Amino acid sequence: MAKVYIRGAGIHNTGTIAMVNKTGSWRYVRPVREERMPPCNNACPAGNDIQGFIRLIREEKLLDAWRLIKETSPLPGVCGRVCPHPCEKECNRGKYDEAMSIHALERLAADAAFREKISDKPTVSPGKEHVAVVGSGPAGLSCAYFLAKEGYKVTVLEALSAIGGMLRVGIPEYRLPREILDKEIADIEALGVTFKTNSKVNDVTDLKDYDAVFIATGAHVSRALDVPGEDIAGVISGTEFLRKLNLGEKPKIGKKVVVIGGGNTAIDAARSALRFGSKSTIVYRRSREEMPAVEEEIEAAAAEGIEIVYLAAPTKVVAKGGKVQEVEFNRMKLGKPDESGRKRPVPIEGSTFTMKMDTVITAIGESSDLSMLPKGTALSEQGGKVGGMQVFGGGDAVTGAGRVVDAIASGRRTARAIDKTLRG
Ligand SMILES: Cc1cc2nc3c(=O)[nH]c(=O)nc-3n(C[C@H](O)[C@H](O)[C@H](O)COP(=O)(O)OP(=O)(O)OC[C@H]3O[C@@H](n4cnc5c(N)ncnc54)[C@H](O)[C@@H]3O)c2cc1C
Ligand code: SF4
Repeated sequence: MAKVYIRGAGIHNTGTIAMVNKTGSWRYVRPVREERMPPCNNACPAGNDIQGFIRLIREEKLLDAWRLIKETSPLPGVCGRVCPHPCEKECNRGKYDEAMSIHALERLAADAAFREKISDKPTVSPGKEHVAVVGSGPAGLSCAYFLAKEGYKVTVLEALSAIGGMLRVGIPEYRLPREILDKEIADIEALGVTFKTNSKVNDVTDLKDYDAVFIATGAHVSRALDVPGEDIAGVISGTEFLRKLNLGEKPKIGKKVVVIGGGNTAIDAARSALRFGSKSTIVYRRSREEMPAVEEEIEAAAAEGIEIVYLAAPTKVVAKGGKVQEVEFNRMKLGKPDESGRKRPVPIEGSTFTMKMDTVITAIGESSDLSMLPKGTALSEQGGKVGGMQVFGGGDAVTGAGRVVDAIASGRRTARAIDKTLRG
């Protein structure tokens, strides 16, 4: 006769012998401990062992925590400051009261290594294979770091006069102190990576002597506004403005600056213009909800007194004496979602208004320039043959403008793909 197991009633019936269990199921049901990936770890694109490094910090082993993060990311000091921390949205503690401040803890561990002047040390001697990394942003740095740790010779070729990509020439110093960036780049150099600045690659086939090439040139081409008057003196792209500023030049801007856009470049440009002594206003064509900039940055801009005008788009830049005098805008309303999934801004007829301005900073998106590759080359982290060469691509150059942590993750994945291709 089949055994009958009645859970709620606590009766265990074996057919002939019936046993009454007066205490219910607690006598024989035991909690089962299951080891699962914490949701925060899962949400970190770099794959940082968040639970692990927080445990080490709790035990006051800050340098061990830093070493653990360095297993998955070469830039914890950078991420501890600028990562929009998608991990914190998934923190279990958030369901109880408030999420752990994971990025601040990452920064704490990285700052301990900075204070103690602890650096990476090569653990393997370099092998024969030589990889060229084109572009020294977080994707290039990450790929170079993980390849060097595996014993590859790596040369990073950078077009600009300084290493770091958007970490150096995009994100302003008040958000990312350069001594932190310099330290984390020096750590990568300590592994034997060679950096060459002022080394723009115009044709990938010039790199045919390398065993593999990683293209990590980012997305630096600013999208045009496509309105009359865009070519007037006083209209400048956000990336150019920030690049000049970050490389120590003094970009020419006036006292009344309007920044067009709603991403990180727009916010950083507006906040930097403010530090230049200009009054800056941001105009964004959608609503706050759709704004792609990091939330804390939007709040910081508002707290500094930067006005953000939502649901408006420029239609004309008006000049006087060859210089910007005012900008004409149309009010917008939100329609059905577009291909990006965000609600499409639709102009409201007859809603034109103007703003008196002397500088327009455009920050409506950036795309990549892959003119160094033969037309039609599909660039990917998995790599492919270009004129007999092994060519890989990653970071913003492949995905379009993204986040630092995604570029780091892309660099690491590509290092793995290069290793698999070259060593099997
Ligand atoms: C103003 C601004 C603020 C941002 N703020 C944040 C933030 O707070 N948090 C966040 O997560 N993300 C932020 N981002 C996005 C983040 O910086 C990028 O997603 C990230 O830097 C992309 O890394 P990457 O390595 O792919 O490219 P990049 O960082 O763009 O680096 C590419 C490098 O390649 C070089 N290069 C280009 N062409 C050539 C060539 N032909 N030869 C040699 N070198 C070449 C470039 O000079 C550059 O140094 C911001 C971006 C900007 C512009
Ligand atoms: S890199 Fe970003 S997502 Fe990953 S642990 Fe750090 S703050 Fe979180």
